Amino acid sequence: MPSMLDAVVVGAGPNGLTAAVELARRGLAVEVYEAAGAIGGGARTEELTLPGFRHDPCSAVHPLGVGSPAFEAMPLAEHGLQWLHPGLPLAHPFPDGSAAVLSRLVGDTAAALGPRDAGAYRRLLAPFHGKWPVLARDFLRTQWDGLPKDPLLYARFGLWAGQPASLLVRRFRDAKARALFAGLAAHGIAPLTGLGTGGMAMVFALAAHERGWPVPRGGSQSIADALASYLRSQGGTVHTGFEVKRLDDLPPARAYVFDTSPTALARIAGLGNAYRGYRYGPSVFKVDYALSAPVPWTSEAARRAGTVHVGPTYREIGDALSAAVHGRDPSVPFLITAQPSLIDPGRAPAGKHTFWVYGHVPNGWTGDATELIERQIERFAPGFRDLVLARAVQGPPQLAARNANYVGGDIATGSVAGLRLLIRPKLARVPYATAHPAVFLCSSATPPGPGVHGMSGHHAARAVWRRLRG
Ligand SMILES: Cc1cc2nc3c(=O)[nH]c(=O)nc-3n(C[C@H](O)[C@H](O)[C@H](O)COP(=O)(O)OP(=O)(O)OC[C@H]3O[C@@H](n4cnc5c(N)ncnc54)[C@H](O)[C@@H]3O)c2cc1C
Repeated sequence: MPSMLDAVVVGAGPNGLTAAVELARRGLAVEVYEAAGAIGGGARTEELTLPGFRHDPCSAVHPLGVGSPAFEAMPLAEHGLQWLHPGLPLAHPFPDGSAAVLSRLVGDTAAALGPRDAGAYRRLLAPFHGKWPVLARDFLRTQWDGLPKDPLLYARFGLWAGQPASLLVRRFRDAKARALFAGLAAHGIAPLTGLGTGGMAMVFALAAHERGWPVPRGGSQSIADALASYLRSQGGTVHTGFEVKRLDDLPPARAYVFDTSPTALARIAGLGNAYRGYRYGPSVFKVDYALSAPVPWTSEAARRAGTVHVGPTYREIGDALSAAVHGRDPSVPFLITAQPSLIDPGRAPAGKHTFWVYGHVPNGWTGDATELIERQIERFAPGFRDLVLARAVQGPPQLAARNANYVGGDIATGSVAGLRLLIRPKLARVPYATAHPAVFLCSSATPPGPGVHGMSGHHAARAVWRRLRG
C-alpha cells in the first residue's frame, strides 16, 4: 500500500464505484471502503426467498444505466455487464384488460394511446428523439455548472421538463395517456403537481425510445461487479465489511470521496451542521416474490413487459404519492413492478419466476403493506396469490438497516420534491465539494440525483481531479 493514497472512496454503490474508476483511470491510487459484506449498495442481487431465486433487493430496471454517459465511456461489457431487453419496456394495464404501453418506438407508443392522444404524444417526444447523448450530458449534471452542449435543445427540452406532470398531462384527452404519464412521473416519488415532475416522465419515456429499459444479465449486482472488476484492472482496491465511522478510520489520502448521505458525511468528517437543512423524502414498501409461474396479468401487453405500472388512473396514482409524501398510511398504493426472469431466465429455477414490486409509503413508516400490495395486483392479475411460493418484504426500517444511505427508508437519499432534484445537497456551484478541502460527496444526494447511472460519481471525480491537480 502506498504511504499516502490519492483517494479513498467511502461506499461501493454505483456512484462510489464510478468515482473510484474515474480516478483510478487517471492513474491515481484509489481504495474503496464498503460497510456491507458485499459491494453494490442499490445494485445488489441476492437469494432473498428460496434457493435458486436471484432477487434484486433494490434497483432492477436500468433505463438510466444503459443510457449513462459515464457507463458508456467504460468497457463494462468486457467486465461481464450484459444488458437484456424485454419485448416491451413498460406496460400500464387497466382493469378492462387493455394497456397503455411504452415501446421502443415513439410511433408504436403513440398508436397504442389511440387516435385522440397519438398526435399529442408524438408532438411531445418526437422532437427529442435521436438526441439522447446530448440531452443526457446536459441534464444529468449540475445545471448551472458550465454551459449546455446544445443550448437550443436544452432550452426546448427544459421548457417541457420544468413543468409539473399535472400540467403536462393536460395535453392528453384520454385517461389512459394521463395514467401512463403519471406512472412515469411517479418514479420521482414527489407530488405530481411539483416542478419538474413532467420532466421526470419525459426522461423515462425518451429513455425507452432511445436506449430501452433493460435488466442486466444475472441481476443488478452485475453492474456493481463490472464496475469493481474494471476498477481492479486499473489498480484500485475494494474492501468490504468496513463501516467508516470517523475520518481517522481511513488510511491517509489526498482526497476522501463519500458515497453516503450528507448527514453521515457531516458526522464522519466533522462538518457540523453543514447539511442541517437537507430533507429526506418518502420511502417504499418492497416485496420480492418467488413465483411458480409468470404473473397472470389480464393484459397481454403486461405479460411481455419488463416493467409493469399498476395504478389505473392519474388520480389514483397522484393520491398514492400524496399520501406517502404527507405521511399518511397507504390505502391503494401505486405499484412499480418488474419481471426480470421473463427476460433473464437464469434468475429462477426452470419454469419458475422472480417478481419485484414496490409501492410508496411515508418516511420511517413501520406498517405492513403486503396485503394492500397483493390486493392491488389481484385487480390486474387475478390468481396471482396462488402462485406465490415465498416472499421477502422490506419496509422503511429494513431498507434503512440494509443501507445507511436510505435514511428513514428514503431510496433516493434525499427528497426530490420541488427544486430539490436540482439543488442537492445544498445550493453550491460545485455541490460535490464540501467545507473540508479534501472531502467530497458523490452519492445520489448530489446532482443528478437517484438512479443507477454513476453520474454523481462521475462529476464528483472531476471535482476531485481538479482539486488534486491544484
Ligand atoms: C427498492 C429500490 C428500488 C430501486 N429501483 C431502482 C431502479 O429500478 N432503477 C434505478 O436506476 N434505481 C433504482 N433505485 C435507486 C438506486 O438504487 C439508487 O439511486 C442508487 O443505488 C444510488 O447509488 P449511490 O452509489 O449513490 O448509493 P448506494 O447505491 O446507496 O450505495 C451507497 C453505499 O455506501 C455504503 N455506505 C454507506 N455509509 C457507509 C459508511 N459509513 N461506511 C462504508 N460504507 C458506507 C452503503 O452500504 C452502500 O453500499 C432503487 C432503490 C431501491 C432501494
